[in-house]
Amino acid sequence: MTLITNHMPTAQLQALDAAHHMHPFTQGDELAAKGARIITRAKGVTLTDSEGHEILDAMAGLWCVNIGYGRDELAEAAARQMKELPYYNTFFQTTHVPAIALADKLAELTPHDLNHVFYAGSGSEANDTNIRLVRTYWAQKGKPTKKVIISRKNAYHGSSVGSASLGGMSAMHAQGGLPIPDVHHINQPHWYGEGGDMTPEEFGLARARELEDAILELGEDRVAAFIGEPVQGAGGVIIPPETYWPEIQRICDKYEILLIADEVICGFGRTGTWFGSESFGIKPHVMTIAKGLSSGYAPIGGSLVCDEVAEVINGCEFAHGYTYSGHPVACAVALENLRILQEEGIVDRVASDTAPYLKKKWETLADHPLVGEARIAGMMGSIALSPDKANRAAFAADPGTAGLICREACFANNLVMRHVGDRMVISPPLVITHEEIDTLIARAGAALDQAHARLSDEGLMVAAS
Ligand SMILES: *Cc1c(COP(=O)(O)O)cnc(C)c1O
Repeated sequence: MTLITNHMPTAQLQALDAAHHMHPFTQGDELAAKGARIITRAKGVTLTDSEGHEILDAMAGLWCVNIGYGRDELAEAAARQMKELPYYNTFFQTTHVPAIALADKLAELTPHDLNHVFYAGSGSEANDTNIRLVRTYWAQKGKPTKKVIISRKNAYHGSSVGSASLGGMSAMHAQGGLPIPDVHHINQPHWYGEGGDMTPEEFGLARARELEDAILELGEDRVAAFIGEPVQGAGGVIIPPETYWPEIQRICDKYEILLIADEVICGFGRTGTWFGSESFGIKPHVMTIAKGLSSGYAPIGGSLVCDEVAEVINGCEFAHGYTYSGHPVACAVALENLRILQEEGIVDRVASDTAPYLKKKWETLADHPLVGEARIAGMMGSIALSPDKANRAAFAADPGTAGLICREACFANNLVMRHVGDRMVISPPLVITHEEIDTLIARAGAALDQAHARLSDEGLMVAAS
């Protein structure tokens, strides 16, 4: 057996990767022809690849490395826990200190009475938990017909069968026979793309009222819950109009529908408050968490549950759980991550200093001829690429063509910025400094210039009719 290390030539590692490793959300044969980029190490906001490039990671991995890379304290917390108790489960009336300590910390950090956590290994798992949790809640209350969960088109809630069904990604539904029954999707509050002649405020209300229409159409006696990301992440960082969430909240209250806030991205400081629900005035019964919970250093997720829902669920045996629910090493890592976020005042600094600085710089990108809008909420931002910015026009070319060209230009400028269709998105580590923000904006500007030149050369700056 060959020893595979960082010192192997890139091409050899790429060939081995192509031979044996199937990548998520990737067309394998295309990637095999091109060769995957190999990330070898990272520190702060900077990745190093096998060719020695130093790349500014404006995506914090997959929206998760909130405290930045290379914090030894988390490695030490993991090593300590592995030596003391590497694994034990929380089934069958047992528990352990990391699971207890993290649950206690989460109850302290979460708003209102979200005082209970059901652990999972990821955001997808946690949303699968939520499907069963809210349906079980209503069954326990003597209303077993309340099963339908209302979600939004273009939402992202994970990749398992249940969570992808909650999600509203049509390309995902098309593979594997999704969605599961009793999930209903309404339209998203995406003003730039779908708002037409309405003002953002009018549009936000109109889209929220689709929830009321759906409840009336399905019958209140069939609806269990509504789920939404405070800011849609994977759908393209879609920041809803200010009118949207208050109206959703009003409707959930009026019809006694449980409200699930999927905080997998927005949680743990991303929007400048500990939870996106606080930034947008949402009072959920259940919150999904993962990603920033451990800053991605260990796989862990969970469902935060309010007192009333927990009380009802605790009245039965909830026949649900994962081998790694409350994994001690992951809990210890998450706890250390939360300690750092809290004690170093990282969330406060985002709110008072770095997010306002980034916002000012990010919004200047809207002046670029290729950019139709540039918006940001805390540390998650997006720009819409457009061939005709005055009319918020889409491209005539297939959706994602311009976005992909722009993403390649970003890589060429040592910047990781992701594309979602023809939107470019960022979600940098929360520890990013002013100087690093300046670098991010300069590289994004250069990438936009190059993408614009290439789109013009190839005759692609043409609006869809
Ligand atoms: C990433 C994500 C998930 C899924 O989390 P995984 O850990 O990848 O399973 C769920 N909801 C949202 C909003 C996400 O961004």
